[in-house]
Amino acid sequence: MALIVQKFGGTSVGSIERIEQVADKVKKFREQGTDLVVVLSAMSGETNRLIDLAKQITDKPEPRELDVIVSTGEQVTIALLSMALMKRGVPAVSYTGNQVRILTDSAHNKARILQIDDQKIRADLKAGRVVVVAGFQGVDEHGNITTLGRGGSDTTGVALAAALKADECQIYTDVDGVYTTDPRVVPQAKRLEKITFEEMLEMASLGSKVLQIRSVEFAGKYNVPLRVLHSFKEGPGTLITIDEEESMEQPIISGIAFNRDEAKLTIRGVPDTPGVAFKILGPISAANIEVDMIVQNVSHDNTTDFTFTVHRNEYEKALGVLENTAREIGAREATGDTKIAKVSIVGVGMRSHAGVASRMFEALAKESINIQMISTSEIKVSVVIEEKYLELAVRALHTAFELDAPARQGE
Ligand code: ADP
Ligand code: ASP
Ligand code: MG
Repeated sequence: MALIVQKFGGTSVGSIERIEQVADKVKKFREQGTDLVVVLSAMSGETNRLIDLAKQITDKPEPRELDVIVSTGEQVTIALLSMALMKRGVPAVSYTGNQVRILTDSAHNKARILQIDDQKIRADLKAGRVVVVAGFQGVDEHGNITTLGRGGSDTTGVALAAALKADECQIYTDVDGVYTTDPRVVPQAKRLEKITFEEMLEMASLGSKVLQIRSVEFAGKYNVPLRVLHSFKEGPGTLITIDEEESMEQPIISGIAFNRDEAKLTIRGVPDTPGVAFKILGPISAANIEVDMIVQNVSHDNTTDFTFTVHRNEYEKALGVLENTAREIGAREATGDTKIAKVSIVGVGMRSHAGVASRMFEALAKESINIQMISTSEIKVSVVIEEKYLELAVRALHTAFELDAPARQGE
């Protein structure tokens, strides 16, 4: 019998009506004779509400305690869906991460799954039950509740599919697939039939939050067939696949990702001696701050300017460290800017085409958008621009790379 893992996101279980609708859908699949493991998120907005409660007590909640509170959101939805299924005559049972035993490391708020005990789930499936599992949560070796980072239910779904060797992992959400870019920003965005794991991983890493990054990593590593679908509309969705052949037929660019999560820091007038980059970034890394893009300007008068980006949450901390470094190494000044955005074009087709980056720069120049930083890899080009131009840039690039969906009749 086929085994499918279905994950439903927050908006898909956002109310009692929606949960009843999910139960109808699951029942239909069950009647077709499929074994089902269903992974749920908390009701939409619930995780934010719980974090906000914690922040009303303290600015910096203890990570362990934060996991205890945020994991409750998923415990509510799994019980409700199990009840809704049983009401429909479908045998079902709900499990928290701890009850399944989704073993993780102890990195609270961003834990990694180490192992999943599939015994209990297999026994329930054999007994004809639908197994409903809380997404986003696990337990460490000491019995502490852990969570997998925002959007982590996707990863629970894929990890369960890998552990159970499921035939497919279906991610049900509020869009009918992965689009060329966020359809909320570009209405002309197109649904992709297929996208490679590699491209999806870049898209997710560069800001497309339709799938959590780790879920794509997991799916690629364990070769889990992964599909993104709309919870309540019929359709084929988007298949995430290793098959690059057919993607090569597609346009050079598969998608455009963007994020507003970064901030830029610059240190000016740095005496240009060997080891400059280490002197500047060493203390940043010692402070446990991750650096993304880096640019060092060509030096003149034996001094140079050095710019890099960090996550916006770490901006204040990074600026403090950099000001300190500036004093120590005799640089002129340390400054920063939080009003930046990163826009990236992604596509495996870039490997076999020249001039992709310049086409990107031309499209941005036409809109008089200044590029502050650039970084490239084999399958992506990213630029940092002023945040206020973000939407304009994404739309211009979407058109320049011929990704716009043809206008429907009457539009
Ligand atoms: P869920 O609660 O189901 O996990 P998310 O909000 O995490 O849903 O993810 C779905 C959202 O991702 C969509 O509503 C859409 O706005 C956004 N999104 C961003 N980039 C893309 C993209 N390239 N394709 C589809 N959706 C995208
Ligand atoms: N409820 C968690 C969140 O909002 C996990 C998830 O929805 O995937 O981040
Ligand atoms: Mg999500």
